[in-house]
Amino acid sequence: MNPFDLSGRVAAVTGANTGIGQAIAVALATAGADVALIGRTPATDTAEQVRALGRRAEIVSADLSTIAPVDRVVAETLERLGRLDILVNNAGIIRRADAVDFTEEDWDAVVDTNLKSVFFLCQAAGRHMIAQGQGRIINIASMLTFQGGVRVPSYTASKSGIGGLTKLLANEWAKHGVTVNAIAPGYIATNNTAALQADPARNAAILDRIPAGRWGNPGDLGGAAVFLASDAAAYVQGHILAVDGGWLAR
Ligand code: NDP
Repeated sequence: MNPFDLSGRVAAVTGANTGIGQAIAVALATAGADVALIGRTPATDTAEQVRALGRRAEIVSADLSTIAPVDRVVAETLERLGRLDILVNNAGIIRRADAVDFTEEDWDAVVDTNLKSVFFLCQAAGRHMIAQGQGRIINIASMLTFQGGVRVPSYTASKSGIGGLTKLLANEWAKHGVTVNAIAPGYIATNNTAALQADPARNAAILDRIPAGRWGNPGDLGGAAVFLASDAAAYVQGHILAVDGGWLAR
């Protein structure tokens, strides 16, 4: 038996219309999972890719800047796909400004989306997974789960919060057969990082600092997500898996 086989499982992936979320949704489908694609922009292209793999895809509309939709997201996934085994909390935003100038609006927008909604979606899905006696939660963290960064105070707070939250939920839910882990991507070429890639000086400085010597592709995250979602990771709990081309090793 292939321990990475996700046939018969249902995954819900937030922010699945583009970037890392899209790549993870497709990777989980490639491993056999059906996928609920959660987000505010309909993940039409991702759904097509998942269906082309012979898996079911359902688009579930949700703006996760508030926690209002979290119970409905779980209910709709169960109603439309019949189960929920894997939750990937990927949706996230970033706001940049010096700490001395940082506004409450930029604080709340980022922390509400990247941390508060993640916790309450974990809670809504976790209640279901605890009741069914198994589940997998994968939170998308960051290098700034481990490091300070500059000019991104609310992002750093949200992503270091994701690290602590992942460990707390792992502690509380391991006995119920639910694993809670995180993936910390390095510099990945997506819309989120387009401005950095387009700035020759910053791009060169980033490439110089990455041991692998290249930006990551969204697809580089797929294997880590499949692993953490699979039976192969049944005893992996509260872990934050860096997929960063060696950034943190330097
Ligand atoms: P993108 O900007 O390409 O994608 C972000 C996704 O989050 C989009 O699907 C977006 O939807 C969704 N999203 C944002 N706000 C909301 C909201 N209020 N409700 C629902 N969905 C929302 O970014 P990436 O793919 O690069 O990032 C994905 C995750 O990876 C994020 O959590 C990010 O912090 C993290 N990450 C990324 C790194 C990188 O280098 N790219 C490095 C480390 C971490 P919409 O299109 O509708 O806005």
